[in-house]
Amino acid sequence: MKCEALIDYFNGTLNDKDRAAFEKHLAECTDCREELEELRLLTADLPFAAEPAEPNDGMKERVLSAVFAEEPVTAVEKTAPAPAPRKPARQWLQPLLAASLLLSAGANVYLLAQKEETDQQVAREEPATLAGSVQLAATEGFNGQAQASMVQENGHSSVILQANQLQVPTGTEAYQVWLINEAGDKVRAGTFNTDESGRGAVSYTMPSDDNWQMIAVTLEPTATSEQPLGDIVLAAEL
Ligand SMILES: [Zn+2]
Repeated sequence: MKCEALIDYFNGTLNDKDRAAFEKHLAECTDCREELEELRLLTADLPFAAEPAEPNDGMKERVLSAVFAEEPVTAVEKTAPAPAPRKPARQWLQPLLAASLLLSAGANVYLLAQKEETDQQVAREEPATLAGSVQLAATEGFNGQAQASMVQENGHSSVILQANQLQVPTGTEAYQVWLINEAGDKVRAGTFNTDESGRGAVSYTMPSDDNWQMIAVTLEPTATSEQPLGDIVLAAEL
């Protein structure tokens, strides 16, 4: 039995013979004793350590990719008590420990850390409000309709446009949304394609609260036009 058996020993998955052998190793191996002590400290402090949760596949993947990214212990450190200063752990063991912790009882630590982040996010966010909404009608010779909503959210104004029954763009063509102010300046407010039944949507955070007079959708020859080159397909006054 060697150091590699530590995790299995800690998780209680060794058979009697292997466990006895590992305990013999433990008596001679300071590294394993320290690691074991740290594991016990970490898990003793977990509120739900006694009820290990089976992580779902998505979480396993995230945990494992975190391990491969060599930043595996973030979630553990968040809720664990500050460990006493100790010599650096052996490099091969550290990610494995983190992974085994996160994948078993540590799943709870991970979930708690996630929840903490989510709670903070929610606390920061103001409820979004609808500042206005208009229907865009098709111009002559074109099909389609759209709804544009102006949304105030976290100090930003966004426009969300949803269109349907549009002609499906071909080749490099794409639909572009334009906001037009009193002076006739046009600001591109998003580019979108449609699905095969002519539906499309785009959201755009406005750089300023200019006094927009009009919203229009053009069918552009390419998705990169800085000024409208194609025909206006849909339009509405704001
Ligand atoms: Zn050892």
